[in-house]
Amino acid sequence: MKVVDSHIHCGIQNVNQPYGQIEPLLKDAGIFSACLFAPVEDIYYRYSSAFDDNEAWRACRVNAHHYLLRLSQEKEGIYPYYFVWNDFMVEDLERNYCGIKWHHHPGEPPYHYQDPRCADMIDAICARNLPIVLEETCDQTLKFIERVAGRTSVIIPHLGLLNGGFDRLLHAGIWQDANVYADTALAGTREITIFLEKFGADKLVFGSDYPFGLPEPQLQRLTRMGIKHRDLEKICAGNILKLITL
Ligand SMILES: [Zn+2]
Repeated sequence: MKVVDSHIHCGIQNVNQPYGQIEPLLKDAGIFSACLFAPVEDIYYRYSSAFDDNEAWRACRVNAHHYLLRLSQEKEGIYPYYFVWNDFMVEDLERNYCGIKWHHHPGEPPYHYQDPRCADMIDAICARNLPIVLEETCDQTLKFIERVAGRTSVIIPHLGLLNGGFDRLLHAGIWQDANVYADTALAGTREITIFLEKFGADKLVFGSDYPFGLPEPQLQRLTRMGIKHRDLEKICAGNILKLITL
């Protein structure tokens, strides 16, 4: 079965997660394709909500993205994502990115949603139909989904575990929207089971969230749940490939 790990953090600046370390882990799991995001640590200073920005961080972001783009040129089956920050560099999207990472936890520096360049960025992402892996507070997750409704796809990582929790998002009805997906990274079998019962297998994508989860055990847990083979094929590769090759 073809498998794409749709959620891998890869970087070599403020963390030591080079692809050379990830590739053997994927191979051991029988995985030959991966969506790569820069680690948060290479995008902004995450340990103070007051952090703004500076030249060194701008350079760090450029390097982080170059690393992923270079990997995607050198190797088959690598899908680089663009990690958005408050500089909202719309022109960066002209490179060959397959998706978008958007990440903020409580206590980390927040996105400037009121900045008109934020709207430009969201419009540019939607115009390119790039899927957005969105990790935000519950409140911002709901607002964000409303903002991009019907314009591009949004993937909620961890089935919502770090977006306010699975149950909260379920009750808010976000997955009723045909364009809102979830990934399985570090999610529980309970959440995966409920999601499949309610929404079927077309909107769930496999991901490990390396280095927080490892590809092989994350994949094994999924394949041992007794999910029908046809559905498993969609979750492990079919769904994400549809989103990133639009
Ligand atoms: Zn992650």
